[in-house]
Amino acid sequence: MTAAGAGSAGEWERLFPAAARPAPALLTLTAAQADAIRSAAAAAYPHEGCGLLAGVEEEEEEGVAGRVTRVVAAANVAPRAHDRFEIDPRAHLDLMKALRGTAERLLGHWHSHPDHPPTPSATDLAQAWEPGLVWIICAVTAAGPGDLAAWRLTGEGDERRFEPVVLRIDG
Ligand SMILES: [Zn+2]
Repeated sequence: MTAAGAGSAGEWERLFPAAARPAPALLTLTAAQADAIRSAAAAAYPHEGCGLLAGVEEEEEEGVAGRVTRVVAAANVAPRAHDRFEIDPRAHLDLMKALRGTAERLLGHWHSHPDHPPTPSATDLAQAWEPGLVWIICAVTAAGPGDLAAWRLTGEGDERRFEPVVLRIDG
């Protein structure tokens, strides 16, 4: 999501303090949640679809793992929605209200890549500055949704890049 979603990095930190932590290296989705993302990606085609992911973090032998508890649909408010996404800021605020007082936090977000593989684009890297969030990308074509892949930001300055997050689909 872009800075337009939350105003500024400072504002983001105020609204989403947990986002300052590194994103989990593993992420678990239910099959129904994965299907919800794929269906929304297909519905948005040929535009990019997008939404938010809430969940909890659990310590595992392999490290911190995120488990998604909610997949939230959000309007893509980017002016160039065919190859950009910008999550409706109202969806952020509604989700944060819903998460208040729960053990869940904002774990990340998802968007689709119409007619492109589910790997982060140069644009994605340019607009990514929140290291605490997992990015799920869903490939989609006119024939329907394709693969899901998960990513997190790592490195700083010239070394800034996305690295894969292990995505597990359960139940
Ligand atoms: Zn992208």
